[in-house]
Formats: sequence, C-alpha cells, structure tokens
Amino acid sequence: VARRSLGRSIPPLYMRLAPSAATVAWLLRFARHCGKARYRRGCEALANLSVEAPGRLADLRSNGVSVDITGRGMLHVFAEVNDARDALKEASAVARDGLAGPDRLMDRGQLLALEPALGDRVRAGFLYPEEQCVDPRQFTAALVATVERAGATIHPGAPVTGFTVERGRVSAVHRGSQRDAVERVIICAGVWSGRLAAQLGARTSLIAGRGYSLDIALPSPPQLGLHLSDVHLGLSPTPTGVRIAAAMELSGPGQRPHTARRLKAIVRCGDGYVKDWPTYDPVFADTGWSGMRPLTADGLPVIGPLPELANAYVNAGHGMWGITLSLPSGAAIAELVLSGHAPNVLAPFTPARFST
Ligand SMILES: Cc1cc2nc3c(=O)[nH]c(=O)nc-3n(C[C@H](O)[C@H](O)[C@H](O)COP(=O)(O)OP(=O)(O)OC[C@H]3O[C@@H](n4cnc5c(N)ncnc54)[C@H](O)[C@@H]3O)c2cc1C
Repeated sequence: VARRSLGRSIPPLYMRLAPSAATVAWLLRFARHCGKARYRRGCEALANLSVEAPGRLADLRSNGVSVDITGRGMLHVFAEVNDARDALKEASAVARDGLAGPDRLMDRGQLLALEPALGDRVRAGFLYPEEQCVDPRQFTAALVATVERAGATIHPGAPVTGFTVERGRVSAVHRGSQRDAVERVIICAGVWSGRLAAQLGARTSLIAGRGYSLDIALPSPPQLGLHLSDVHLGLSPTPTGVRIAAAMELSGPGQRPHTARRLKAIVRCGDGYVKDWPTYDPVFADTGWSGMRPLTADGLPVIGPLPELANAYVNAGHGMWGITLSLPSGAAIAELVLSGHAPNVLAPFTPARFST
C-alpha cells in the first residue's frame, strides 16, 4: 500500500511525520518490515490472536452485554477481476486454522445475489464469512459498563502523568499532584502509551496512524460489511446506511486532522461501488471524525511486560485492529498478569523486540 500510494491523486496512505531522528528510525524499521515474508508472519501472528475474538464477543453478549452485530460477513470487492484473483491468493496464503477465510472468487452476479446494494463498478470479489461489524461507540460503552459492574473505577479526564519506581517496581501512578499506590500497572493508552512507557524506560515504536470516519445515509443500505479493496475503504452497515472508515495518515498525536479534505477524497473514492452513493456535501465534515490508530513500525501490537520492571506491562499498538483484537488481547494480558506466564500467542508481540 505504501509503495502504491506514491503518486496517486487520492492515496490511502499519507505521510505527515515531522522530520526527526526518531521519524527516520521509525521509517527505516517500517521499510524493513514491508517484505512479503515478514508481512505474512505478522498476519499469522495477528490471525492467531484474533481467532478468539468471535467467541469472546459471543460470551460477552450471552452475559447480557449489549453489543449489536450490524453486519455478518465481509465482502471484499474489486473493479478488476485480476486484482480480486491476486488478493484472494494473498488472503489464502495467510489463512489460519480456526479462522474461516474466503474460499472462492465470485463474479458480479454471485456477489449481487449476496449483496444487492453493490454498485456498477464491482466486477469480482470474495467473502470472509465470519467477519462481524459492531458500532465502536456502543461496543466501547458496553465494555465500560461491564468493567464498572465488575468493580473497576474509571477516572475520565484524569490522565496519568508519571510514575514512582522503587526497587524495580512501579509503586505509584501520578495524576498531577495525586499519587495512587499500585500493585501492577498496564499501560493501554493507545498512541500515548509510547510517552508513558518511555517514562518507565521502555521503547514501543508507536506513532499515530490517523483514520477518518463518516456515517452516510443510503436508501438501500447493504446488509454485509464491505471492503472496497481497490480504494481501501471499509463500510460497516448501519440501520440507515454505512459507516465509512478509511485513510491512514502517519502523523504525530499532536497534529491537527485534515477532516474536510480527507472526507472529500474518501467519499469520491467510494463512487460506483455501492448503489445510490452520494456526492460529497460540505455538511459531511460536521459529522465526520478522525481518530488515531496506534501504530508500531513492524505493524504488530506491543503486548507484554516492560523490560526491567517486575510489575509493569503494556497493551497497545493494535493499529487497524484494536476493536477486533481488544477482547483476545485483554484476555491474554490478564492471563500474563495473573499467572506470571505469557501465553504463547503473545510471543510475537513482546515489548522486548524494541529494546535494541
Ligand atoms: C477511522 C477508524 C476506523 C477503525 N476501524 C477499525 C475496525 O474496523 N476494526 C478494528 O478492529 N479497529 C478499527 N480501528 C482501530 C481501533 O479504533 C484502534 O486500534 C483502537 O481504538 C486502539 O485502542 P486503544 O485502547 O489501544 O487506544 P485508544 O482507543 O486511542 O484509547 C486510548 C485511551 O487512553 C487514554 N489516554 C491517553 N493518554 C492517557 C494518559 N496519560 N492517562 C490515562 N489515559 C490516557 C485516551 O484518552 C484514550 O481514551 C479504527 C480506527 C479508526 C481511527
């Protein structure tokens, strides 16, 4: 994607990184991980972690946690048959046991039979049958309610500003002048985790990969999740249309978003892939939003113990998969913290890989 973005008028990947030694180091590490073999190993590691996601979501729902599934199955669609064929080959190469991947290339007629809302440009595609779409706001609210019911206290608007470290352990977390004594600390502050971990002497290689999102109304909303693979747009069904998620803007967490400009490009990209697709309206910028995906240079989350400390951990860097991986990552880090042993599935994500 990085290579193909160069020179495109509407690229899926934008660079807005301030020039610095840290930026150069991040980009070099990123470039080293762009090869096919490392990419596939990374996909396998992510697939191994995500395999538990549907089961854990089903458990939450059966325990009364209210999370609606708005689309079952994700169609990857293409304007060119050859592109779809190549992408299917790649998808099959990284398919893992326990995760149902796409099994066949479908032509336009077969795709329309599954999803009548597809537009004229779509010629071929394939289905990930087990993908599910949720509303991220509802999902997050449900998690908050669940942990509060279990006895946790959340302090919104009270950021952690520092730590007290004594004899190789974090003994207190600072919130301004307040000191909270702690037995264990897990840093899970998204892209801001890098700054917090650095205060504890650990490297995480985290930068922001800003993404943009917009809900649009459609007269006949699709029933399946859609990935418009040529233009890298994800569409989740909503009751009245779709939620679009797109763009990867490499930047620092402090940088201002380019909301109107990016949304305009994003809406143009979707033209022809879904029936009755709208043209861009400046009011879209009032409801569109952007958020920061925490990205590591090797594309994998950083989950595990912080080097040199007996009771500090990190769980961050989930990039484009933080919703999907939230439940399996949470379960794996809970196992590590409670038992002292990291489950095998966490091996590729160890923070120690950034120590050198
Ligand atoms: C447009 C868009 C579309 C996406 N689509 C998908 C998708 O389809 N599927 C998917 O799986 N993922 C998706 N993602 C990615 C997903 O949203 C992220 O991976 C996920 O939010 C990362 O979760 P996190 O908890 O690590 O970080 P965040 O969600 O960024 O949360 C970090 C939290 O830490 C808090 N914090 C920061 N600093 C401190 C501090 N000092 N002290 C205390 N708290 C602090 C922040 O306020 C924030 O609440 C998408 C992201 C975007 C932007």
